Amino acid sequence: MLIELERGREDSLALIRGLAARLGNRLDVSQGAGIYDTIYVVGDPRGFAEHEAFVTSLPGVRRFLRAASGYSNVARVVHGQDGESHRRERRVVEVRGLDGLVRRFGGGAHVFVVGPDSPQTLEQTLAIARAVRTIAERFGIVERMVLRGGAFKPRTRPTDWRGLGMKGVAMLDAAREETGLPYVTEVMDHSLVPEIGAHADMLQIGARNAQNFDLLEAVGRFGKPVVLKRGFGNEVEEWFYAAEYVANQGNLDVVLCERGVKTLFSKGGYCRNQPDLNAITYARKQTILPIIFDPSHVAGDHRIVPENLMASVAHAADGSITEVIHEEAFRRVQLCDAAQAVLTERYAAVVEAVLAYEATVAPIMRRLQGEPEG
Ligand code: PEP
Ligand code: MN
Repeated sequence: MLIELERGREDSLALIRGLAARLGNRLDVSQGAGIYDTIYVVGDPRGFAEHEAFVTSLPGVRRFLRAASGYSNVARVVHGQDGESHRRERRVVEVRGLDGLVRRFGGGAHVFVVGPDSPQTLEQTLAIARAVRTIAERFGIVERMVLRGGAFKPRTRPTDWRGLGMKGVAMLDAAREETGLPYVTEVMDHSLVPEIGAHADMLQIGARNAQNFDLLEAVGRFGKPVVLKRGFGNEVEEWFYAAEYVANQGNLDVVLCERGVKTLFSKGGYCRNQPDLNAITYARKQTILPIIFDPSHVAGDHRIVPENLMASVAHAADGSITEVIHEEAFRRVQLCDAAQAVLTERYAAVVEAVLAYEATVAPIMRRLQGEPEG
């Protein structure tokens, strides 16, 4: 739900604030078009919606708009009483590094999330983080770089290595300390959200937990930015509703991540998961949330990760999340997702390709796609 209110109508704003506080909603006020501010009502919409008549009667209120879809908080399209449709601004999700720079997902430039599948040794974690920082500096994109690494690993087989847990988180902390880059790490259990969340700059909900509703609500309450992967068996609408679970708790800082789905054809060794690239465009049409792409879990093979990443760039993804390795020798001892890790040297060329695309092809594509910000 959103309300358009004439700027400077402090009395009306105070009454709307009071109502929201009483109903457990949070307001997000941003400067709208002309003389109007836009007030987003964040959280469970049901109680607030009943007060439409009161809100519209307040001086300065121009319009009271409701989401056109069931995922009220994250919907892109809203409509008013006149039935007219309006598109909300896309949301920018911000993550600040220790270096003081703010990474902006959905801010118009590709954000590069990159790191090991999992921190396995301190040496490996730091070597990758340093290499990533060097690449970021070389291309002048430090404010677009974020580290990744899963310390708590969801594994298919119970006997497989499942990550270092909080020891792995400490390695990511060390990498951040040394490079200034913020990091995202996976949380699998709602009871661990406060403990992991106290360290991480951003929390990841993995594909296997995409509909773990207790977990979604826990990261929603916690309030730090979230990367929400699409479940590999989920329809896009189920994924948007998963984001709505987070937003319903007052946290709108959700970055959607397409990571491929399982199909009849994702067997046979040539493709780990089927990339659903069209989902990127659809998510942008249907939700206000930034959307990134995971070329690593789609490919399952480091030799075809760059192509997959570039395909998502053509679909105007707001960023990517990629698994890398610092030296070829480590591949033999890497305990999870070794085959899909791109050497950091090769990753540097991928960054170069994305930047070249942004400079030359992206403006033409925007014209073709017909929408300035997609
Ligand atoms: C990962 O990011 O390492 C991971 C486990 O991803 P997904 O949940 O998409 O399989
Ligand atoms: Mn992985």
